[in-house]
Amino acid sequence: MKKRTVLITGSTSGIGLGIANGFARKGYNIIFNGLEKNGAAIAAEVATFHQVEHLYSPANMLDPASLRSLVQEAAAQFGTVDVLINNAGIQHVSPIEDFPEDKWNDIIAINLTSAFHLIKAAWPLMKAQQFGRIINIASAHGLFASEFKSAYVAAKHGLIGLTKTIALEGAPHNITCNAICPGYVKTPLVEKQVADQAKAHHLPENEVAANIFLAKQAVKSFVPVEVIADTALLFASEGATTITGVALPVDGGWSAQ
Ligand code: NAD
Repeated sequence: MKKRTVLITGSTSGIGLGIANGFARKGYNIIFNGLEKNGAAIAAEVATFHQVEHLYSPANMLDPASLRSLVQEAAAQFGTVDVLINNAGIQHVSPIEDFPEDKWNDIIAINLTSAFHLIKAAWPLMKAQQFGRIINIASAHGLFASEFKSAYVAAKHGLIGLTKTIALEGAPHNITCNAICPGYVKTPLVEKQVADQAKAHHLPENEVAANIFLAKQAVKSFVPVEVIADTALLFASEGATTITGVALPVDGGWSAQ
């Protein structure tokens, strides 16, 4: 089988890093991205451990020109992008009346619009080779709302809409597009919410995990990043030609209720 190349945004932390480890274990060439200061070192460590080729780019999801360059760099080094995983994302928790406008704009740009730019840039490569696997890391909040997360919920619902549209347009070209909708995963993104959630819900910080994060999940533990990685590997696989347009919850039973 041809050695495949995966581009994963936001892959120097949290879920993206977990996905990168999963794909590296399967021998994929990995294009890492993320704004962590030690991003290049994190990427090199994963690639060295799994003995895979890699590229690291700190391209900012807020800058469409950098996203186009990122795909060009990937194609220059590896010939193509076979799998695109739109994972980079941020959160801000605030009641609507105080929600800062710049946070709204950044969340929509990073969590939704960057996926549009990257899909558009990778499309000609995928179409030419009649193979593409696009995976969008949405959220349970792509399917359901929670209070105080207006921008995030709006962006993630939008990302699922984009997923379905791209699935339809990709169908004639063996390009699939699916979304993964995780419940709570213990990453820096979640850890940063503790103080704001405590304030918004008038709770002590040590009660936020049980009363807020895990309240809606039937399984009362955080979703492991390895489970998200395995789900992405399934969507990316050669044989998954007819799995497309799906928004799959990986949420400990949140969506079963
Ligand atoms: P994280 O904070 O650990 O990682 C986010 C990554 O995105 C980092 O590498 C960061 O540098 C990168 N990033 C942020 N802004 C960027 C920008 N402007 N340009 C380039 N890179 C940028 O968070 P995480 O929890 O791993 O989240 C990853 C994705 O999973 C997000 O889309 C998030 O919404 C989604 N998600 C997370 C959870 C959870 O519970 N952690 C649940 C559902 C969905």
